[in-house]
Amino acid sequence: MAGSAARKVAVVGSGPSGFYAAEALLEAGAEVDMLERLPTPFGLVRFGVAPDHPKLKSVCQNFTQIAGHERFAFFGNVALGRDVTIDELRSFYDAVVIASGASTDRKLGVPGEDLPGSWSATEFVSWYNGHPDFRDRSFDLSCEAAVIVGHGNVAIDVCRILLKSVDELRRTDICAHALEALAESRIRDVHLVGRRGPAQAKWTVKELREIGMLANADVVLDDSDLALGETCEAELRDPRGVAAAQSVKILRTFQGRPRERARAVHLHFNLSPRALQGDHCVERALFDRCRLSGGAFAQVAQPTGETVALETGAVFRSVGYKGVATDGVPFDNRSGAIPHERGRVMDRGEPAPGLYVAGWIKRGPSGVIGVNRACSLETVATMLADFADRPSKAPGRAALRTSLAARGVRPVDFTSWSRIDAAEVEAGAAQGKPREKFTAVSEMLAAAFAGATSVPQPRCA
Ligand code: NAP
Repeated sequence: MAGSAARKVAVVGSGPSGFYAAEALLEAGAEVDMLERLPTPFGLVRFGVAPDHPKLKSVCQNFTQIAGHERFAFFGNVALGRDVTIDELRSFYDAVVIASGASTDRKLGVPGEDLPGSWSATEFVSWYNGHPDFRDRSFDLSCEAAVIVGHGNVAIDVCRILLKSVDELRRTDICAHALEALAESRIRDVHLVGRRGPAQAKWTVKELREIGMLANADVVLDDSDLALGETCEAELRDPRGVAAAQSVKILRTFQGRPRERARAVHLHFNLSPRALQGDHCVERALFDRCRLSGGAFAQVAQPTGETVALETGAVFRSVGYKGVATDGVPFDNRSGAIPHERGRVMDRGEPAPGLYVAGWIKRGPSGVIGVNRACSLETVATMLADFADRPSKAPGRAALRTSLAARGVRPVDFTSWSRIDAAEVEAGAAQGKPREKFTAVSEMLAAAFAGATSVPQPRCA
């Protein structure tokens, strides 16, 4: 990794891909400044990972170690586009890595999608995980049947959170406002609906197994959905279909289970959303019954002409995240990602000097946390190869600090984040939870600057 010593790099975003990029850059001798719009680090690990999956959050300990490196600095409460422009960052640093993730959701594109009672799973997840932008949302959980569209891990997370008892959830770091609302929930049946078959579902085996182990809900599915066609069987025999084969095996263990519990997960396959209907709010979800067509690993859902209706007052659209554009950075609207070659940002086919990308905003919103490591390593390797051709002239951290101070922006450094962290853990301990998160930026800033002569005003929620 020659030529990387004392290079100055800004990483925008403090989720897994940002931290993995920082780790690789620090190992290569670079100085790394990480910018984060919120006062708190860790992105989707804090706001995306389900509260009942604490082990997945333990990766934050590794990230905290990375943040302790002498050549690393955290600039929380600093938003690209609001507090510093991309052109300024590019002039301050030898390189900028955009690792901002995918913060919005894909649309279904069906009539009625925006009726009250239809929400994106991403907003529900952000709400129960205490993201400041979503703290004021409300979800009417007064109906008995909910529909979740999509067969990915987010859909399964939402399903568990809707069906677990409040007693199970109160020991997690789920936010108090969500726990309160879920305590009043009347939802008993959750319909998990996929447009393709059991062999094409995107969930992972561990997550699927978990819904079969819910303490107070049975899993219900139609045997005929597990009668797979020859192309699906070929997929399951293929080495690329190992995970799907395991998943189908688990689904078969759900067959014929007696219904004993008060709540149920209903697994539906081959139903593609057609419309959400209701006078003033969602009353039913309409689906086209589909059959699969196409070759192995390229099968798509084709409507058969039959329509299926599910009566529901709560629809969660869980069909994937989508990246959003950053001012001054090339962006492909169709894929919701930044065009790149091995992590080097491409602008109309030409490399954008000093600009790199990592994580979901690079490759699209797929893959579990660890997948981001290889993704960020690729980006850093590309950057280090490029550095070999260019001398370093960047002023780095001092220039960013001067610019932020001139604008009256007070960043939250990692020590200040530690104060937020400690205050949350303390508030949680009082209730037997791992932490009670602050959900307003003003509360976060008050904890970050506790004891200081003044606390900065929040510039967002
Ligand atoms: P995902 O895995 O991409 O699943 C999206 C689902 O939505 C698929 O079933 C997809 O079906 C369906 N879909 C897409 N467009 C649709 C449409 N127009 N109509 C009907 N269905 C549609 O997305 P995700 O669940 O948001 O997860 C994102 C990533 O985060 C994944 O890599 C996931 O593993 C990861 N994650 C991991 C965990 C964990 O490790 N516990 C938890 C949460 C998320 P098709 O296949 O037919 O397109």
